[in-house]
Amino acid sequence: MTDTYPNTQLHIAGKWISAQDGETIDVINPATEEIIGNVAHARVADLDVALESVEVGFQSWKNTSANQRYKLMRKAADLVRSRADEIASIMTMEQGKPLLEAKGETLFGAEIIDWFAEESRRTYGRVIPARMDGVTQMVIKEPVGPVAAFTPWNFPINQAVRKLSGAVAAGCSIILKGPEETPASCAALLKCFVDAGLPDGVVNLVYGIPAEISEYLIPHRTIRKVTFTGSTAVGKQLAAMAGAHMKRVTMELGGHSPAIIFEDADVEVALKVLTANKFRNAGQVCVSPTRFLVHEKHYNRFVEGFTDFASSLPVGEGLDPNTKMGPLAHDRRIDAIESFVSDAVSKGANILTGGERKGNKGYFFEPTVMTDVPMDARIMNEEPFGPIAPIMPFSDFDSVVTEANRLDYGLAAYAYTKSAKTAEAIGGAFESGMVSINHHGIALIETPFGGVKDSGYGSEGGSEAIDAYLNTKFITQAGL
Ligand code: NAD
Repeated sequence: MTDTYPNTQLHIAGKWISAQDGETIDVINPATEEIIGNVAHARVADLDVALESVEVGFQSWKNTSANQRYKLMRKAADLVRSRADEIASIMTMEQGKPLLEAKGETLFGAEIIDWFAEESRRTYGRVIPARMDGVTQMVIKEPVGPVAAFTPWNFPINQAVRKLSGAVAAGCSIILKGPEETPASCAALLKCFVDAGLPDGVVNLVYGIPAEISEYLIPHRTIRKVTFTGSTAVGKQLAAMAGAHMKRVTMELGGHSPAIIFEDADVEVALKVLTANKFRNAGQVCVSPTRFLVHEKHYNRFVEGFTDFASSLPVGEGLDPNTKMGPLAHDRRIDAIESFVSDAVSKGANILTGGERKGNKGYFFEPTVMTDVPMDARIMNEEPFGPIAPIMPFSDFDSVVTEANRLDYGLAAYAYTKSAKTAEAIGGAFESGMVSINHHGIALIETPFGGVKDSGYGSEGGSEAIDAYLNTKFITQAGL
């Protein structure tokens, strides 16, 4: 644990450095609104050096054996574990989430590195039986090349570690543009890779103006792969830019996850799991349950239970051990959540608890429960990314499936039922990249993680996750 917040530098060509022109961006503690430090602000001149560095890094790393990559990554994971207390307190200071959540995220980051380290030794190819004697047909996997990665502020470690580990495990080098709002915990993660002994240039870290960096890196011929986590709107711009330059892409974008409580569900189990997951990280989670669709038989109990939970949830500074929900991560979220609430209320929604900013210092917002929210309210159509829960009743399977699939998002979906038949039917019916039934089992590293429709494409979990950083090469060879 530390109470000192470090300034963050760029990491380029194996060195921690300031931006060439010395520019920095302030970092604000969302619980106090105080400036607690700064992060180096890269410009094009810095990016040029990073691009040279990532190319050099790639040339050495792609020829490093999988076994050696595995060993260095395992060392990086051990360093993350040994530094977890310090990294977690830094994350709480800059992001706001409760310390326990920050520590859990950090330790899970170590697990993610371990898992990818193991996968790095299993990037198997295959031999395809030939049609003629003397011919050998081989399929081999090769690293795709230098990667440009863009990660957000909601999970400063988790979003970055999946990209760093996937790229490094596959034999790629990477320039990571980390989150300017929460730079130091992301940098502390990357430092574990550096300190484990990865060659210079394999991992590079920059911060700055997101659009300036993406517009420079994505078209650049050095970069062969683009991976982004963030909003659908930005993801579409970056995917279009990557498409124009024929770069491989992984897009992990927004969601608007339906959570259905069927007539035969155990409503108390559903309440326990869904309330905890709604307000985790103050709702700033792409797979957060968002639209609660409750069978009319359980509707009153569910609304009552959810409201009780939300109204008694301890909200406060993340470093306070009693806190269960911290502030929103930055002032833009306060404006966004206030406007979701006022829009819904103006269209007839009822606020059962919350609905307001909490206190006048720090970006705290009350856990909020709404009913009677009309379908044209923005919260029923756009990703809220905050601690607001709209709850609505339904009566039959077909209508609830239609509502669940109504939006263009397709990231995660949840259902509660005791019937195997209903579970099977809803599992197949959801238009969603991930479905979790009767529990919250999404985002384990060994399972696929990604969306469909406007929620993006590609996966950041399971064996698909390393494949995203590998090219398939076919070699056919005849004996002379
Ligand atoms: P935003 O859309 O401006 O930024 C989202 C993320 O994308 C940030 O990390 C930002 O640095 C990055 N970004 C923005 N423009 C970029 C560009 N041109 N090139 C490269 N990166 C760029 O908005 P915000 O206020 O930070 O967050 C708002 C919304 O973003 C949220 O409501 C949520 O829908 C979405 N979001 C999603 C995730 C996720 O985990 N999928 C994480 C953070 C934010």
